[in-house]
Order: sequence, then structure tokens, then C-alpha cells
Amino acid sequence: MALQFFRVYSPWAPEVRLDCWRDALRALSANECAILRSFSHQSEREFLVGLRAFLQDWAATKLQSWQDAPEPPAPTVQTLGALLNGLPLVHQEIVFLTLAGYSPATLEKTLRITPAVAGEGLGRLRASYARVLERSEDRCLWPSTWIGICRAARAGGQKDCTPLRQLIRILDGQASWHDKTPAEEHRTKCLHCLELWTSLLEVVAWDRARQPWPEDQIEPLMVDTPAMPDKDHKSLLDRLFGR
Ligand SMILES: [Zn+2]
Repeated sequence: MALQFFRVYSPWAPEVRLDCWRDALRALSANECAILRSFSHQSEREFLVGLRAFLQDWAATKLQSWQDAPEPPAPTVQTLGALLNGLPLVHQEIVFLTLAGYSPATLEKTLRITPAVAGEGLGRLRASYARVLERSEDRCLWPSTWIGICRAARAGGQKDCTPLRQLIRILDGQASWHDKTPAEEHRTKCLHCLELWTSLLEVVAWDRARQPWPEDQIEPLMVDTPAMPDKDHKSLLDRLFGR
């Protein structure tokens, strides 16, 4: 998942992404895996959303704004807010994930929408972001700026924002109409919740697309990780998820 994250949100070549993952893994596992253990372990998806946020924070310290594409100019929190303002929720999701770097073909799968719906949702981007719409690969044009926008959105949560656990229930169709409708109405006006919701959709899509790695390729990804305190001889993931 980390490598999928770096593929979309960094300008780095594949071998550099592996080095970055090893660096990030050292940070995650320092002090007896203090950061790793600070993530939610109630469910795998909550854990993965936490891991994704950590990777954004970590990448923010490595990326420089000169690495962002100069044209079209990157959005800001303000211009993004203007682009989203008044759009139906699904169109907001399309705009947000398109600017994040996703091609229409990927969005159709991630959001489970038809090409016609995807096309409608992109209407507002045609004037200023035509180049974004021409791409077929999934890669953010402005990783440094976009990650900055996501971090600002994450920091801007309010009391009435929808907790991640509730968003997962909505995604799974387990929330009642009574809970779901106000959360969705709120999300049309809240960048914090839109970022959290789309990050959930993203990790679910990455998880779905995940291929098993050959064993000989896993070993080089796991360098130098200190063991967690091992009292009960369970694996790291078993302990993290309380298995
Ligand atoms: Zn909110």
C-alpha cells in the first residue's frame, strides 16, 4: 500500500520509492514501533487510513514545491473550495480525486460510477485543468502542494465532523438513513470530511488492487525493523489487531 501511495503522490522513480518506504518504515518502527502502535487498530481500514496519513506527513518532509508541475498551477485550499462549492457530493469526490491525480478510468472503479457520471463531475475542471483530464496514469501533478492541502484539511476537523468509524459504516451500508443523510450533507461543505472519506475510498481501492508479493521481494522491504516487545510470541500484525 505504501508503494501505491508513493506511486500516486511522489515524483520518485520505483527504486527511490523502495528506499523511501524503508526510511518511512524505520520512522514507523522507532521506539518499539511507537508511531505504528498509535494508529487505530479497531479495523484494518482504520489502520490503513492512519498509515496513509502518516505517509503523507512523512512525504511532506521530503517533497519540495519545485518538484510540482508549473502548469496548470496547483490548486490552493481556497481555489479548491471554490471548485467544490455547491457541487453534488459525488461530483465533489470526482473533482477531489481527479486533482489528487486519478484518471477517469480509475475513478470509475474507485467510486463505482459510470463514464457519464465521471464526465459530468469533471465539468468544472475543464476550464483550468484540461491537462489534468488528459492523463491516463494515476499520478499527482503537484505532490508537495496537494499533500499540504490534505494535511490542512486533516487539521481542520470540527466537532460535528463524521468520525472515520462512522464513515466506514456508511461505506458498508450499515448506517441508517438518519445517520447517513446529515453526514453526507455535512461532507458537501467540509473539506476535512471529504478528505477523510476519499482517503478511505483510496485505501479500499488499493487494498482491492493488491497483488501478493513474491517472498524474495518482501525481505528487502523489511530492513532494520526492531522487534516489538515480544512477550507472547505473536506476530507484529497479530498483536496490532489484537488477534
Ligand atoms: Zn467535517
